[in-house]
Amino acid sequence: MSLLVVGSVAFDSVKTPFGEAKDVLGGSASYFSVAASYFTDVRLVAVIGKDFPEEEISVFRDRNIDIDGLVSAEGETFRWEGSYGYDLNEAHTIDTRLNVFADFKPDLPRNYRESEYVFLANIDPDLQREVLSQVKNPKFVACDTMNFWIENKRDSLKETIKLVDLLVINEGEARELGEDPNLVKAARKILLWGPKRIIIKRGEYGAIMFSGMHIFVAPAYPIESVFDPTGAGDSFAGGLMGYLARADSLSEADIRRGMVCGSTMASFNVEDFSLNRIKKLNRVDIMDRYTEFKNLTHFEDLSEEEFAEMGVLT
Ligand code: AMP
Repeated sequence: MSLLVVGSVAFDSVKTPFGEAKDVLGGSASYFSVAASYFTDVRLVAVIGKDFPEEEISVFRDRNIDIDGLVSAEGETFRWEGSYGYDLNEAHTIDTRLNVFADFKPDLPRNYRESEYVFLANIDPDLQREVLSQVKNPKFVACDTMNFWIENKRDSLKETIKLVDLLVINEGEARELGEDPNLVKAARKILLWGPKRIIIKRGEYGAIMFSGMHIFVAPAYPIESVFDPTGAGDSFAGGLMGYLARADSLSEADIRRGMVCGSTMASFNVEDFSLNRIKKLNRVDIMDRYTEFKNLTHFEDLSEEEFAEMGVLT
């Protein structure tokens, strides 16, 4: 099934304790679409400026991502500058320049309007709703956001969240959005606004899903060589939504598998700056890491007899 994403395509300048990268390809929709492209057909909606070089566009072309919805406008491409300390779970934004995004009025290509799966990646919540309103009858809609929008456009963001089936959000942002330091309470509060599920990304601690019925936890892969966590959340969402669109299923089992596909893509993403690692994976890479996730979390049952033999029930 087809998967549509709207979000940022950006030039990022990033500093981590292990190095830095200046004006490299980034943006929520870039990470998302490349990660999702390993699973399904992706349609990209975003805007770039006249400064965006052809060779960067080939990153999307090489992954067969549909870029009919990638508009080139007068002006400069969106820019984000951020840094990380030794706690790689927390990005510190130094500068955000919306540039061409400030006046972007998307007009979706005709075939995009039939998309079944939609991801509203981190971008202005007004723009998220503008795109969603042009999709005729989506089966499943998810969205992401970040502190920038929680702090600057809270009411508009709430309107977007009301319309989606799933909210995918960082731990700190969930607390800020739900206005509660307790993650479970913040999640329950946000669920009351409308979404059926919420997935909270917890960086190196994995991701946790809350719905009315279930809680599921997917670990993060313990990686020694984390270089740059930028885009981990978007790659997670790309793996998750890409898998769901491919399976065309929203069963609990498939959502859990999807979360592990998401964790798999995020684990590759942090191994290098920009999209350098995730743009050149193959099926075996993805399959092997998925299996490693399975082994990482698998443990055997202990029967009542075994508990009794150990004396636990006495
Ligand atoms: P993540 O690390 O997955 O949360 O996403 C990082 C990406 O989000 C970077 O590549 C940035 O270009 C992009 N980004 C940062 N701030 C914003 C913003 N306010 N709106 C849209 N995209 C953003």
